[in-house]
Amino acid sequence: MNSKEKTSKPAKKRYYRKRVRIFNLIGKIKLWPSRTGQLHGIRNIEILGETARLTTHCNEEFIISNSLNSRAGRWLRNKWFVNVCPKCKVPDWKLEKYSSTLFKRHQGSMLTKNVESQANEKNK
Ligand SMILES: [Zn+2]
Repeated sequence: MNSKEKTSKPAKKRYYRKRVRIFNLIGKIKLWPSRTGQLHGIRNIEILGETARLTTHCNEEFIISNSLNSRAGRWLRNKWFVNVCPKCKVPDWKLEKYSSTLFKRHQGSMLTKNVESQANEKNK
């Protein structure tokens, strides 16, 4: 049992580029909106070239493509979802982190390399 509960601090805003690679984004935020609008927690992402296999915490599998303009890519960036999958048990802190994540055209990390150091880049 994992009882590591940290006291919640106000979520820090994070910026990612709008054109961030969708696989990297999913690998980072570990959330995925299915076609029915249900937000799942991602347990594993396996990248197979231009597609990837996502395994959710509720043991569903989704094969996705690395398209920036895919439905899911848009939904993720716009944070559109109908509900959070009850079986995935996505923790609140993860949803909070997601909701404080912003996507900008000219600002933020592309998630291509060390995310932490890029996040400290000065705003222009
Ligand atoms: Zn789920």
